[in-house]
Amino acid sequence: ARFGPSHIRAASRLLRPYNPEADAWPFLAQQVVDVGDVACNPYDIEASLASIEAGVLDCLDIASRILVLGGDHTIALPTLRALHAKHGPISVIHFDAHLDTWDTYFGQPYLHGTPFRRASEEGLLDREGCIHVGIRGGLYGAVDMADDRALGFMTVRTHELHLDGPRSVVERIRSRVADRPVYVSVDIDVLDPAYAPGTGTPESGGLASWQLLLMLRELAGLNLVGGDIVEVSPPYDHAEITGIAAAHIGYELLSAWAPPLDDSALKTR
Ligand code: MN
Ligand code: MN
Repeated sequence: ARFGPSHIRAASRLLRPYNPEADAWPFLAQQVVDVGDVACNPYDIEASLASIEAGVLDCLDIASRILVLGGDHTIALPTLRALHAKHGPISVIHFDAHLDTWDTYFGQPYLHGTPFRRASEEGLLDREGCIHVGIRGGLYGAVDMADDRALGFMTVRTHELHLDGPRSVVERIRSRVADRPVYVSVDIDVLDPAYAPGTGTPESGGLASWQLLLMLRELAGLNLVGGDIVEVSPPYDHAEITGIAAAHIGYELLSAWAPPLDDSALKTR
């Protein structure tokens, strides 16, 4: 997944300036800058977390919002540390096949299955305002879900989304988040492997790209402070399918938080 950012960048080259479904100009109505990669220490996860937190804090000095491309899902933890320093407790809208609130794997506390447990334990999250969407697949036991609720999350499982439709899920998200500062974390494995094969822990029965893009679009108007797209793993991708999905997810997020633009002047050019 360390090659994810360059893969998403490459797949983003066909994005166009106007998003008609959102009626948004994501790159014209706001200044958008690719600040490049954070240098990480491949032999020391906690040092890398500190580097990412410092990099995000540097960006937040000059930017009102940040979109982070992963990398694996561990990067959400240092990003939330930085956002918490600026905004206080954060609501998280977490699109993922997996809860990512496990405690440890092989005794290790910092990895891509644990960022939201660590974030909740550290007091970074608003425990009344967090929600997982797209959860599915097997677990080690039902206790995982009880632990997860105690950490501050409600859950919309994928089959509920398929049966009730994405609009009803958006209503649940909006009532859960209300006007809290909110971070949107997108693990690409929330999509079905048909739409995003290039990832490390695929789960069958997932979302279609259009369902996720529609829900992201309808988050416009929430108090969005940042987001991420994680777990894109180019070695497992085919024909840029996953990269293209990730690039369009980023496009919808940038569109959702873009201010309105009076484009009458543009049309006369
Ligand atoms: Mn996942
Ligand atoms: Mn994840």
